[in-house]
Amino acid sequence: MKRILVTGGAGFLGSHLCERLLSEGNEVICLDNFFTGSRSNVVHLLSNPYFELVRHDVTVPFYAEVDEIYNLACPASPIHYQYNPIKTVKTSVMGAINMLGLAKRVKAKVLQASTSEVYGDPLIHPQTESYWGNVNPIGPRSCYDEGKRCAETLFVNYHEQNKVRIKIARIFNTYGPRMSPNDGRVVSNFIVQALNNKDITIFGDGKQTRSFMYVSDLVEAFIRLMNTPDNFTGPVNLGNPSEFTMLELAEKVIKLTGSKSKLIYLPLPQDDPTQRQPDISLAKKHLNGWSPSVKLDDRLIHTIEYFKPLSNI
Ligand code: NAD
Ligand code: UDP
Repeated sequence: MKRILVTGGAGFLGSHLCERLLSEGNEVICLDNFFTGSRSNVVHLLSNPYFELVRHDVTVPFYAEVDEIYNLACPASPIHYQYNPIKTVKTSVMGAINMLGLAKRVKAKVLQASTSEVYGDPLIHPQTESYWGNVNPIGPRSCYDEGKRCAETLFVNYHEQNKVRIKIARIFNTYGPRMSPNDGRVVSNFIVQALNNKDITIFGDGKQTRSFMYVSDLVEAFIRLMNTPDNFTGPVNLGNPSEFTMLELAEKVIKLTGSKSKLIYLPLPQDDPTQRQPDISLAKKHLNGWSPSVKLDDRLIHTIEYFKPLSNI
């Protein structure tokens, strides 16, 4: 049995990861300050004697004897990470320093939840890990993008200087149950709007693309990545290469919900990336042939079912 720390464990991705780690017989410490996550995401785990929920902020050092750390703490939706940009940078940077310091002291392996946002508005397509990105350092998204880029730098520095065992996962857009219905991300927004027969808000002309991965595919990749040999650190792209425009996504959601919603066009937020698609060759090679197994249509239906009781907002 391993003792595993999951920061941001009460959030969307973290709660699914905690569930999976417990189901494999591990002891899990879930650390969260509940900024965007909630107890309700993990309430079903509280009766498990091997699960511990700790209210704590990653910008403050944390001490525990653990074997592995998954560092997920950070708001992920643009409206949440732009709410207090200074705090977002602190969470990424000080959170990384605190978790790397802990990993160094207790000789734990540590995995960083990085993001496709490190590529910014990419000028090469699809994105490979060797691409350095096209990021505005002073724009509205920079608190998140540059915070995550600095965290990657810290991970590599701790690995090279202090021999900390690290893994860096660059996660592309992921969806599924327990996304917050009002955090402004496109999948949850469109579903909630469609279920309420409200206008579907297309930002810009809707021709910008994203590639959507279902949460279970990501959790599988996280665990495989953590178990790779120590000389494989990443960064490695984790995403589903099937790419859709936001108009295509809106049409799918309207069809699957049988909604009467109409599309309305709103201004494109500043620095909104025009295209995004992962090249996952490196993940396939190092994660035992991993590739996403879930198709968007199949799991969109499941996600729509999850949102039905929550959609009256
Ligand atoms: P989320 O907002 O649901 O989860 C983030 C969790 O971190 C929440 O529970 C929140 O309360 C917690 N948190 C935030 N600041 C904290 C702090 N200072 N101290 C302790 N806890 C804190 O978002 P998510 O989608 O589950 O994302 C999890 C991680 O994955 C994030 O680091 C995000 O950047 C990364 N990521 C997610 C996606 C995606 O599509 N979901 C894509 C790329 C990267
Ligand atoms: N988007 C949209 N309508 C919405 C919410 C988002 O058209 O109601 C667009 C947004 O402009 C972006 C894409 O959907 O181009 C994905 O947005 P999200 O915030 O989910 O993720 P990110 O931009 O971080 O990839």
